[in-house]
Amino acid sequence: MAGKLFILSAPSGSGKSTLVSQLRSMVRDLDFSVSWTTRAPRGSEQEGREYHFTSRKDFERMIASDGFLEHADVFGNYYGTARKSLEEAAARGRDLLLDIDVQGAAQVRRNMPEAITIFILPPNPEVLALRLTNRSRAEGGVADAVVKKRLAMARQEIENYHEYSYVLVNDILERAVEELTAIVVAERGKGQPDATANPELQRSMVLAEQCRLENSRERLQPVLASFGLSM
Ligand code: 5GP
Repeated sequence: MAGKLFILSAPSGSGKSTLVSQLRSMVRDLDFSVSWTTRAPRGSEQEGREYHFTSRKDFERMIASDGFLEHADVFGNYYGTARKSLEEAAARGRDLLLDIDVQGAAQVRRNMPEAITIFILPPNPEVLALRLTNRSRAEGGVADAVVKKRLAMARQEIENYHEYSYVLVNDILERAVEELTAIVVAERGKGQPDATANPELQRSMVLAEQCRLENSRERLQPVLASFGLSM
């Protein structure tokens, strides 16, 4: 595609939706791919805004007609990115942001290794459990078993962090937004002839560099350890 492709993955409860909406208010010309899903709408979600909600039958029809760039089964529901999203963004010369799980990200990476991949980590299991409990409460009921299951799923997703180019920890929202914005700005600025003459771009490049997987080991180590994972 003509524009850049950004892939964001994070376990459920990492505060990714807030991060995405704040990022989109900070940077121009970044299209968001509205995924297709077979899960039911939650809370104030609207058709065509958060997701395109569809039936399993129609989703399977789209799979059969090769309508998806990637698709996966997450928590027993289908989720997928329509090829059309990518084509439309390319036709408009826009960058595109995908919010997809680790399985989907692996599929896209195989076909489009130039995609810029970002993983968001929750700071520790306690904060994640609290966010998951609050979400369950907002959905109408807190079932301990559901929260426990989602925590276990989160841990499994986190195990894949090392497949991403950039890894952020969402402990302080403002900082995570700043880092995410810096990554987008820095990636867009790559190869710009006047990059060194632009101090703002330089600052973003330095910050983005610090968020690269290979440069964040010290910061990630305690977070991963809190989930029982080592680097
Ligand atoms: P939720 O139901 O909480 O909105 O999303 C559950 C998970 O599905 C999240 O990890 C989210 O990133 C992932 N997801 C959302 N859309 C897609 C998609 O189009 N493809 C894939 N593979 N995962 C998706």
